[in-house]
Amino acid sequence: MKLSQRITHLTGGGSDGWDVFYRARRMISDGYAVTELTIGEHDVRTDSAILEAMDLSARQGHTGYAMVPGTDLLRDTVAARLQARTGVPTIRHNVLITPGGQSALFAAHFAVCDPGDVGLYLDPYYATYPGTIRGAGAVARAIETTSKDAFQPRAEQIDAAAEGAVSLLINTPNNPTGVVYSRRTLEGIAEVCRRRDLWLISDEVYDTQVWEGSHISPRTLPEMAERTLVVGSMSKSHAMTGSRCGWIVGPEEVISHLINLATHTTYGVPGFIQDAASFALNAGSALEEQIAAPFRRRRELAVDILKAQNTVGLVPAQGAMYLMLDIRATGLGGEDFANALLDTHAIAVMPGESFGSAAAGHIRVAMTIDDERFAAALSTICEFATDLANRPAVAS
Ligand code: PMP
Repeated sequence: MKLSQRITHLTGGGSDGWDVFYRARRMISDGYAVTELTIGEHDVRTDSAILEAMDLSARQGHTGYAMVPGTDLLRDTVAARLQARTGVPTIRHNVLITPGGQSALFAAHFAVCDPGDVGLYLDPYYATYPGTIRGAGAVARAIETTSKDAFQPRAEQIDAAAEGAVSLLINTPNNPTGVVYSRRTLEGIAEVCRRRDLWLISDEVYDTQVWEGSHISPRTLPEMAERTLVVGSMSKSHAMTGSRCGWIVGPEEVISHLINLATHTTYGVPGFIQDAASFALNAGSALEEQIAAPFRRRRELAVDILKAQNTVGLVPAQGAMYLMLDIRATGLGGEDFANALLDTHAIAVMPGESFGSAAAGHIRVAMTIDDERFAAALSTICEFATDLANRPAVAS
């Protein structure tokens, strides 16, 4: 039977640099001790106070269908949070609660792209981006950022790619690069969006993990609230990846259509999960800081380790739970380096190539194991890279 192109073309096909990840997973299931620095999952579980709130809510009976747009409490809590952070007036009707940030990304594109429209995104990118845009029926068009610009996108490049586009997807703090977009970058992006009449889909799921500078939501910039859809999530800020709870914040009209979409797709998010999320968001910033603290610490450890050598370069590690390392001095691409590292030292990292072509010659290291093992793994990566860089050239 024929399947739709929409589903068969969701992923690009090919390995996309994910082979090393699956190989590491196979090694682990075969009993090898692999140091896994691949995906963005905390090494702590959801805090017990949040679980207690979840348990209490479920036992009080919040196990039936919840309101499709989200509970009033959680929508109000998210609205107040966004308003406090951005100064932009935000009410319940600007908020849709979604099963995680991923479904919010899909819904946001579904809301603004018609089949065949072009949706822009920036390379390097979070793995699902092109498939999410294609899944919504649009044509995904990548714009490469460069390590030369510390992966900050340039307005002129976006402008040059904007012909025929209806939306631009950005992510700050950024996965995979760890870069936080500067005010100048965001003002440039906003200017292009206004002039080219683009929707801006702003993925801010790492907004509580900022190590340098500050997170600026483009929704705060002049005339941007009316064309920006902010995607947020409990996954990273509160170590609630498995709870699947996120949101879209945007103009009321868009949210009202998105509620219709939710009625016909997800039918909302479980009430006890939403109550746990409301509890967590109202628990204050100390809990968020506690969850972010290990990454902040490990990032500092990494900066010191990397300072002591000059083979491996560190892309400015300003936010999120990853480091992007430049290993071009070894003469290997990211995929070959990651495979060799796995074979030689049983350390698994993601090749930059898994996130598009702009991060070729880089590897992404997730800071998701305890400090001591993390520092040891990073030192090993540096020594391994230095040995590779210093190996005698083979005569051809
Ligand atoms: N955006 C980015 C940049 C991510 O890294 C992730 C998860 N790794 C998501 C969105 C989706 O997160 P979730 O669906 O768990 O909220």
